[in-house]
Amino acid sequence: MTAPVIMLFQKNDGSHTEEMADYVIDCEGVTGTIMRQLTGRKPDYIITYQTFNHGSIRLDPHYFYAYLQPELSEYDAWFNVKDDLLVLGISVKNKNREGDYYAQFLRYMKEQHGLMIDREEKADRWLLPRVEPGCPIHYGVGRVLFAGETAGFLNPMGEGISAAMESASCAATALLQHFSDPQEVLSSYQKSTEALSCYMKRQWSLVGGMAKTFSYMR
Ligand SMILES: Cc1cc2nc3c(=O)[nH]c(=O)nc-3n(C[C@H](O)[C@H](O)[C@H](O)COP(=O)(O)OP(=O)(O)OC[C@H]3O[C@@H](n4cnc5c(N)ncnc54)[C@H](O)[C@@H]3O)c2cc1C
Repeated sequence: MTAPVIMLFQKNDGSHTEEMADYVIDCEGVTGTIMRQLTGRKPDYIITYQTFNHGSIRLDPHYFYAYLQPELSEYDAWFNVKDDLLVLGISVKNKNREGDYYAQFLRYMKEQHGLMIDREEKADRWLLPRVEPGCPIHYGVGRVLFAGETAGFLNPMGEGISAAMESASCAATALLQHFSDPQEVLSSYQKSTEALSCYMKRQWSLVGGMAKTFSYMR
């Protein structure tokens, strides 16, 4: 029988406090600090850079557009409209190449779709986990369960919200059903996310067949 989990929290004033829990569902996202400490894994990351702009473009604003041409990004590039702002993003493995790819993507969107930017409202930079071939999922260690991106759930084109919510819900359900048996919790969690995990593999395999950048995922 594994022992309860002791968690150490840092408060705003810098002091620490301890909490004891029977289980922890770790949903800390791409950074996965706890997961890395518990498993020793060092996942790879993709850097995303996107800007939100006032302007115009000759594209239907109801769609999300993904661009997989290797000359536009090292992973994928995208365009969509959010809150009436034009969102233009690229992702790279090497941060030093971010500016070049972004400039190239803007040139492409101007030439192909008449993009006109009047003013950039804001820009943001974040990370995506680099999904490995076979789409491995890490369900947890002892009484700590991993969900969402921490566990490895992420569909192509950076679509991960639904998988994060579904996996966390499966983890919570497994806990409620097998609370007294941590091993059963983990195996029940794994079983209940089989469909989610298969869907993820199918999606990555599909993209692997469509674009050279992702051929390693076939
Ligand atoms: C640029 C970009 C665009 C995206 N667009 C889409 C999209 O259109 N559709 C889609 O489905 N997905 C999209 N995604 C992916 C999606 O955002 C993630 O897959 C999803 O949010 C993962 O959910 P999560 O709950 O695992 O992690 P997160 O949503 O990252 O949540 C983790 C939370 O834990 C907090 N946290 C981390 N460490 C600690 C700690 N030590 N203590 C306390 N709190 C902590 C973080 O602050 C964060 O709030 C996009 C990602 C990026 C980078």
